[in-house]
Amino acid sequence: MKKFLSVLLFILCVSASINGQAKYVFYFIGDGMGLNTVNATEVYHAELEGRIGVTPLTFTQFPIASYATTFSTSNGVTDSAAAGTALATGSKTNNGAIGVDASNTPVTSIAEKAKQQGMKVGITTTVSINHATPASFYAHRADRNMGYEIAFDLLDSNFDFFAGSGLTNPEILFDKTPADNIFNLIDRAGYTVVRGYDAFVANKDLKDKVILINKGEKSNNSIPYAIDRTNEDLTLAQITECAIRILDKDNNNGFFLMVEGGQIDGAAHANDAATTIHEIVDFDNAIKIAYQFYLQHPNETLIVVTADHDTGGIALGAGGYVLNLANLQYQKVSKSKLSSFIKKLRTNDGKPVTWEQVKEVLSANLGLWTKVPVTEEQEQKLYERYKKSFVEGDQTMEQTLYQSDEKLASEAIALLNSLARLGWASTSHSAAYVPVYAIGAGEELFKGKMDNTDIPLRILDAMGVEK
Ligand SMILES: [Zn+2]
Repeated sequence: MKKFLSVLLFILCVSASINGQAKYVFYFIGDGMGLNTVNATEVYHAELEGRIGVTPLTFTQFPIASYATTFSTSNGVTDSAAAGTALATGSKTNNGAIGVDASNTPVTSIAEKAKQQGMKVGITTTVSINHATPASFYAHRADRNMGYEIAFDLLDSNFDFFAGSGLTNPEILFDKTPADNIFNLIDRAGYTVVRGYDAFVANKDLKDKVILINKGEKSNNSIPYAIDRTNEDLTLAQITECAIRILDKDNNNGFFLMVEGGQIDGAAHANDAATTIHEIVDFDNAIKIAYQFYLQHPNETLIVVTADHDTGGIALGAGGYVLNLANLQYQKVSKSKLSSFIKKLRTNDGKPVTWEQVKEVLSANLGLWTKVPVTEEQEQKLYERYKKSFVEGDQTMEQTLYQSDEKLASEAIALLNSLARLGWASTSHSAAYVPVYAIGAGEELFKGKMDNTDIPLRILDAMGVEK
């Protein structure tokens, strides 16, 4: 018995030294990334290779793959604020609340705990830095819409690196007196604001307290969708690379980095499947950067990948035993961009817009007719929408959470989705399980079904930090 115990002790010691404490923690959150959006991305890539099956993403090959529940205290279907708070702090809260529990008491995030331990901390996203998910890691407010107050909490956090499109609601932020302009405050708090990847790379003096924001299209709410980006726009992989450069520089205490794929949610709210898939690829590309870091520090690095909730309830198979996801490859722009092209047609030098002109836009950007066959009945439906919109002058738009789109764009994308044999349950969130993946130091802690509040507590365990 004694011999057995000493052998067991030896095995435990060896496994502890192989899988040490997590000194470098990457926490990837795909906003709205339900299990089936991940599955859709893998099936899509297999179809592009002419195969039935899946082509795995990087993160789905991690040794631990599990799943989590996401309900909030106020509803079975969570929003990003309550889910972000659960993932950041281990406390459930009401929909809309940021970094406070259900009785409105502030709760400490694992990023704040990491900072207290002397680790460096980075909080990054493809949407605005004061949006719900990133805010959950540094802010404590009853309402996610308190953008200005949340931006103050950002400065108080003293975290080392932030990245995203910019700050939401600048009109609210800039309504304050000039001295209170949030960028003046950022400056006074000792942060350097860098616009774009090239400026970041060119500046060799950057040390810490850096805020990296997008240089391309001037939208504070989000970096353009991956499918629409230009070279001026940040990718999530670039953001992750810049974060590692800041956090790992002259630092022996390790770091905690949260990376949010913030636009998967927006694309899924708009029921735009091709755009959603491109966002997940962008997210996976960022995880590849972290995985390279892990390969250099395998015993001290933990990568956890999860989602805050599912959005849209995507269904793979919309009747019959058929999938044609490869049809989505012909979509070249997001629904939002397609809508802007259709809106532009309306000017047409004051002349009436013809059905042929509309058809040309739809086939150039979605491959309809040229690459994807369209039946007469399907064309008739689009034609009716064109008539309503351009002949009868009905300009009402389709409203989803983050977008207001031309109904013609929406119907054309819905047709392409149905030809891919994809369905959507809604344009809101769902209570579907979200996936959880892990690799590295402490990975075994993420085995088995869990609740979203378990995830940050298990990360703290892996870090050896008190809960
Ligand atoms: Zn959402």
